[in-house]
Amino acid sequence: MSKKTYVVGFPRIGEQRELKKVLERFWARQCTFDEVQACAKTLRQRHWEYQRDAGIGYISSNDFSLYDTMLDTAVMLGAIPKRFAHLSGEERYFAMARGNQECVAMEMTKWFNTNYHYIVPELSQEDTYRLDATKVLAEYEEAKALGVTTKINLIGPITFLGLSKRLDGGDTYEFLGKIVPLYEALLAEISQRDATVTVQFDEPIFVQVCDPKLLSLIKPTYDRLCAVSDTIKLIVTTYFEHSNEATRVLLNTPVWGLGLDYVHGIQNLDMLEDIGASGKQLIAGVIDGRNIWKNDIQKSHKLLDTIGCHVATEHIIVASSCSLLHTPFTLKYENEMDDEIKNWLSYAVEKLDEITLLSEYFTSGKTGLSGTLQQALQANIAANNSRKTSPRIHDKQVQNRVKSITNFEREGSFEERIAVQKPLLQYQELAITTIGSFPQTPQVRQARREFKNGTITQEVYKAQMKAYIDDCVAFQEECGIEILVHGEPERNDMVEYFGEQLQGYGFSQNGWVQSYGSRCVKPPFIYGDISRPNPMTLEWITYAQSQTDRIMKGMLTGPVTILNWSFVRDDLPRDEVSTQIAVAISDEIDDLQQAGIKIIQVDEAAFKEGYPLRQDKIADYERWAVRDFKIAVSSAKKQTQIHTHMCYSEFNDIIRTIEAMDADVISIETARSGNELLKIFKEAGYKQEVGPGVYDIHSPRIPSVEEIVEQIEKLLEVLPKEQLWINPDCGLKTRKWEEVRPSLKNMVTAVHRVREKLSR
Ligand code: GLN
Ligand code: ZN
Repeated sequence: MSKKTYVVGFPRIGEQRELKKVLERFWARQCTFDEVQACAKTLRQRHWEYQRDAGIGYISSNDFSLYDTMLDTAVMLGAIPKRFAHLSGEERYFAMARGNQECVAMEMTKWFNTNYHYIVPELSQEDTYRLDATKVLAEYEEAKALGVTTKINLIGPITFLGLSKRLDGGDTYEFLGKIVPLYEALLAEISQRDATVTVQFDEPIFVQVCDPKLLSLIKPTYDRLCAVSDTIKLIVTTYFEHSNEATRVLLNTPVWGLGLDYVHGIQNLDMLEDIGASGKQLIAGVIDGRNIWKNDIQKSHKLLDTIGCHVATEHIIVASSCSLLHTPFTLKYENEMDDEIKNWLSYAVEKLDEITLLSEYFTSGKTGLSGTLQQALQANIAANNSRKTSPRIHDKQVQNRVKSITNFEREGSFEERIAVQKPLLQYQELAITTIGSFPQTPQVRQARREFKNGTITQEVYKAQMKAYIDDCVAFQEECGIEILVHGEPERNDMVEYFGEQLQGYGFSQNGWVQSYGSRCVKPPFIYGDISRPNPMTLEWITYAQSQTDRIMKGMLTGPVTILNWSFVRDDLPRDEVSTQIAVAISDEIDDLQQAGIKIIQVDEAAFKEGYPLRQDKIADYERWAVRDFKIAVSSAKKQTQIHTHMCYSEFNDIIRTIEAMDADVISIETARSGNELLKIFKEAGYKQEVGPGVYDIHSPRIPSVEEIVEQIEKLLEVLPKEQLWINPDCGLKTRKWEEVRPSLKNMVTAVHRVREKLSR
């Protein structure tokens, strides 16, 4: 075991998602909490062993969680919201995470720019906080009993507060004085057990902390924490971006080491001289913890050489760029994947070997490597060479097409387009539509599954999908929806569906990544140049159109969303990958319009997710994201109406960008925020048409006619009827037909009432 290798954190869900399964059984009252704990213990042991056997020097404890580590930290600090005070133990813990009969759950939100969601702690002036170190100490002792001396992972106090919310208004950082003493007490307890223990403070918020007021909190906090003990080794770790402003401050504190991300924050290199001069340990995050590609060991070796020019070799520790939580667990179970592609990948377990190999290679040089490591290095070089040259990855035709794009704009200005569209499409004011998907019934899911497994023929499958479309169209007509959709029965997921039909996309069997609690997602991955061998939606949409005299809206996912919900190749800039997808979408749009489809919606549900963490990088993201959306719709003729859909309720900062995307109609999520959101559109002088959601589809509740009327009237206070469309907040795939039928009927009745009032 080498003290020169380091893993920031390890996935906890288990290689076969054991934790997910046991938790869900427990929640369904099919097993006891003892069984959950037994499973958790087995998993922790197995995960420590994986790391120890790979030769990792710094292995974490307290990176495990039954639900979420922010929630664990809240519990550790006694930050228990009042409504859960009467509960205790696991009952309280899971009630905080998921709610129960009486108490709503705590809010959950995205962990920086990842797809992991954490529980947002709720703080209030009247609370008193007190330390509960049980979990931290127990896991440390548990590892020790197994012969593994771990570093202890903690979420740092500044990140904890930065991500919490104050129920009584006010600034969460005001509570720093309340919680730092608890962290001090914790360190004191830890040092009593082991005077020389290493403690990792995760402070990812430092990558976003640039203003002097926040920066000024760092030094006093870490001076105090370091003062607890001379022998504890205290590390502050940041990730997902560079943290140079904070790094500068931390170098003037007694912390023992700094963990920096050199994969997603290459500008961390700018601080090398100062780091070298400080004599601190540098935990150099060079193995990507956010992606699934095999590391290019030679390239990383060069990077370490650069670092080594300023920082003494004995002060460099080779690490993952962040917790491996954000990658799938192991390639071991990928039995169906093509061998060539599999050879390009590396999941969490495989990354452990990369860390050791790289560290050995760096400290001992090529000739100093053992025979096994020599072989591993050769294999790594071969795999990377094959990626550089494989015809599965490199498609000259696609590259040339992207290079030769000259048309970034669609035909006509919005005013010109809408003047052609309105008489042609003949829709009324407050036109009634939906966002695309209709309930995914067990039969539909089963049909898709059986077709995939080959147990039903394509003919049978298509007939079943078409029967669903028939019903869906008939329902919409009868209900009085005016612009119809086909209902998306053929789609399991709005990204996966397109990925499966694009060249350059791969899928895993077991590439699960924790999203929140017991939930995991399995993102597809883009490994090569993207092209569209065949139309992707044409058959379904034209079939649906042939079943009705009303307008059938074509339904596509936009390039930025496809990109943001996939693992993306790391051998091409993201924006180039996005342009390739955009070109494929633009071909699809052209096929649809040529087949007589008059309205096409291009969903950009994940447009906002892709925003960079650092303010100074936002403009560039917006530039290419808007560019690629526009390339995607550039094939649309003047008379083809382009819709887009985005599901958020926060547009303040991005309204200009949304406007620049220049869709003819945008539908957004507004039901829960009344007409507040719409006011931003008005203030911005937004001129394109808008479909603000009039009811919340996230709840099974059926909205009444009256409340929808009220909601529409509120919308009309802000924007004129000529500019408004009426639709639900988002797609209906997660709802049941029993909920959707009456809800949409009420929505239609509400529109009729409002129209009638307006015409009086
Ligand atoms: N068209 C998609 C649907 O209706 C949009 C989903 C989304 O925005 N998340 O399901
Ligand atoms: Zn949506």
